[in-house]
Amino acid sequence: MEEVVKEGTRICSYPFLSAASRYVEESGVTLDDLISSAVFERARLRGKERIIEAIKNGVVRKPVIISNAQAEMELLSYPFARILVSCIGDEYLVRRYALSEAKAAHEELLASTGSSSDIIYEMSEEFGIRVDFLRLPHEHAQMQVQMAFVDYLRFTSNLRDKRWKLVNRGLEKGHVKLGKSEFVRIIQEAIYERIKKDLPLDIPADICEAISGYTVDIKKELEEKRKKFGDAGFESGSGFLVKDPSCFPPCISYILSNLKEGVNVPHSARFAVTAFLLNMGLNENEIIEIYKNSPDFDEDRTRYQVEHIAGDMGGVRYTAPSCGTMRTYGNCAGNDDMCEKVAHPLSYYKLKLKKKKKNEKI
Ligand code: SF4
Repeated sequence: MEEVVKEGTRICSYPFLSAASRYVEESGVTLDDLISSAVFERARLRGKERIIEAIKNGVVRKPVIISNAQAEMELLSYPFARILVSCIGDEYLVRRYALSEAKAAHEELLASTGSSSDIIYEMSEEFGIRVDFLRLPHEHAQMQVQMAFVDYLRFTSNLRDKRWKLVNRGLEKGHVKLGKSEFVRIIQEAIYERIKKDLPLDIPADICEAISGYTVDIKKELEEKRKKFGDAGFESGSGFLVKDPSCFPPCISYILSNLKEGVNVPHSARFAVTAFLLNMGLNENEIIEIYKNSPDFDEDRTRYQVEHIAGDMGGVRYTAPSCGTMRTYGNCAGNDDMCEKVAHPLSYYKLKLKKKKKNEKI
């Protein structure tokens, strides 16, 4: 029995694997059962909870599984969550949900010991990553893997930190060596791509209608999150509205909307938006909050970078880049009438704000 529960736990911890889909198919549970049978109410509620956890915390919690029945509900909650996400059909939610599932699996993989090499090996097979597990000189040494650089490039294209750049890794005969935690981070990328790839699913309208009761709270959470991320404006620490996002230049609005939607933006764009918002008077914590949706968000690293740009480490505070620099790095998002009159995004903001206030007085 213990073995059965253990296997159930393993499958429901990684519900995006083909073994998990096979298990669901072979269980004989139909789509009709899943969306309407009272027997599966727990799975439906857990499916809804998965998405709310993703919106609120950015990671889907993994419960302690104590029975096979619980493992089955946990496993079935995953396809139901996918159906809910698809019915809501929001691009930001798709990304946020996929990332939160991938992060949960990443944490689980990192925490796993003993049989961890088996599951890591299974994951590499699943995602078609050619990898060799290296023999180590002594038994307590950290596990190391070696992967073909082509696969390495495929899965690290979204990772912005410079430690992932190929030039910063030892490349030996077309292979890159990685520690276990680094390889698991790459697996997180593969999981994210897998989960996101088919979403939103093409769910018939009558099914979406039948389960609409489960989407109400999710939509509310989504709305709350949106408000917090700028649709209602940026507030300073004192709660006093000091910036007017409607006057932000197109380049900054574009970068912010990408960050809000969980799109991985290039380093130069992150620098530009951080410097711009610091110049606007936002504090470090408010800016870090904006980055929390990024796929590779790491609070310590982000804080370090923001504090560096703010000059908190004894350096100079950077000014936001000029329009010329923005153009050079491909970060100039457009040319509206106001853009024609300025050479700097900060001048754009000041000019537009002035014009807005003047119009309000008329
Ligand atoms: S012209 Fe300047 S202000 Fe306008 S979008 Fe480009 S970089 Fe931003």
